[in-house]
Amino acid sequence: MENSLRTIDHWINGAPVPSASGRTSPVYNPATGEVQAEVGLASIAEVDLAVANAKETFATWRLTSLSKRSEIMFAFRQLIVENRAKIADLVSIEHGKVPSDAAGELARGLENIEFACGIPSLLKGGYSEQVSGGVDVYSIKQPLGVVAGITPFNFPAMVPMWMFANAIATGNCFILKPSEKDPSVTLFMAELLAQAGLPAGVFNVVQGDKVSVDRILEHPDIAAVSFVGSTPIAKYIYSTGTANGKRVQALGGAKNHMVVLPDADIDMAADAAVSAAYGSAGERCMAISVVVAVGDVADPLIQAISARLPKIKVGAGTDPTAEMGPLITGEHRDKVASYLAGAAGEGASVVVDGREADVPAQGFFLGVSLIDNAKPGMKVYDEEIFGPVLVVTRVDTYEEAVALVNKHQYGNGTAIFTRDGGAARQFQFEINVGMVGINVPIPVPVAYYSFGGWKASLFGDSNMYGPAGIEFYTRTKTVTSRWPDPSTSAVDLGFPRTR
Ligand code: NAD
Repeated sequence: MENSLRTIDHWINGAPVPSASGRTSPVYNPATGEVQAEVGLASIAEVDLAVANAKETFATWRLTSLSKRSEIMFAFRQLIVENRAKIADLVSIEHGKVPSDAAGELARGLENIEFACGIPSLLKGGYSEQVSGGVDVYSIKQPLGVVAGITPFNFPAMVPMWMFANAIATGNCFILKPSEKDPSVTLFMAELLAQAGLPAGVFNVVQGDKVSVDRILEHPDIAAVSFVGSTPIAKYIYSTGTANGKRVQALGGAKNHMVVLPDADIDMAADAAVSAAYGSAGERCMAISVVVAVGDVADPLIQAISARLPKIKVGAGTDPTAEMGPLITGEHRDKVASYLAGAAGEGASVVVDGREADVPAQGFFLGVSLIDNAKPGMKVYDEEIFGPVLVVTRVDTYEEAVALVNKHQYGNGTAIFTRDGGAARQFQFEINVGMVGINVPIPVPVAYYSFGGWKASLFGDSNMYGPAGIEFYTRTKTVTSRWPDPSTSAVDLGFPRTR
């Protein structure tokens, strides 16, 4: 029988390019479980083609005026706004997100484009006049050349925007290797960038798997790599990329703790915990996955959370009333379910078991789960589950809560819920986590700050997007200049002095 599946192409040098590697990967509709397309997986030669074009384009793109780059970003922003619904649909049909979640992803991604619209101001350097007689010093930020981004499945639109907005606005050419699980939205964004006036070759999409990632990591013409994904791969990307002389930022997994103090408003804390744990089916690196209940808050809090769970509507992204969609693949759904199967044996108490929920039979759905009495040493506590599973750990004191968070291998996000300003300030001071929420469960920084976790949640020295993104995609050149009066010129072999 003839294969009638749609094939998802690369985008190289301003146009779609079908993969000729002969290797493909299925792209599912997670809400039905059906394979809806296949994505071509790049060969080394296909990566090389994209890099060669990007390298050639860089010579002219870096000459483009800052005003022109800003104008292209503004035009792209407008096209994203006009195509909001289509982009959200593309995200939803391949990822499974419900409409409100897909729209939220896009809105947060858009902030990064808006930030990059200000590129003329962002690239201002410093200038010191008269550091010595007739000598001035100034610094300029120059692009690196060809840079690459490797992105995860869970934010197929937003995470690429974290990277490419600043990368191309600063004058680099960009190679994106999106997740092979939901690759279509990046191709549409490539089309919109072209419509916005971005020259061919500045933004390229290479679909692929480990073959293309490894080629990116070793390609001599790629200067820097941004990565977002799971911790084992982030570690690999960082060690391999830096060993090959590249600048690398590699963001990994998470286990975000929400500490609830006894004085917290129980209903507000329960609303926040439920929204942050089960939104996007828990497939967010900033999802709350552990509630640390301090003192006597545990019982009423668990009761308040449990009362909210039966009301969560699980369904496909095509259902406008659905609040939580399916997981990304059947394999991932089964992996998440295996944590539930093992929880009781580890000594935890399964309060709500998502495997027993009444969810659509087709597709990769799993209901929400709540696990009490989780502790360090248990897999449900130690590991990133990346699904709709919230675990609760009970501690007696604030100090124990802080020690618990600080001991965990991950340090992406955390939150504290309290009415005590002093306690919140102390928490912000002593917690070893990169992004902290005070009565805010998902403290993803706005685009004019920067995003980054600590410990096993980030490898490298640079946070992503915002001011850190501008630094990451540029290098500083410092110029010392003198325009002397020729009549004062003389030979002087001493080391140049400033006074
Ligand atoms: P993943 O690590 O499996 O994949 C990420 C990217 O790496 C994909 O493009 C994939 O094709 C590629 N990849 C996968 N295996 C590889 C290998 N062996 N060699 C080379 N490349 C490989 O992650 P995922 O499942 O797509 O995404 C979920 C993970 O991402 C979670 O751990 C989540 O916490 C993390 N994440 C982190 C952040 C953050 O900002 N820290 C944001 C979003 C997601």
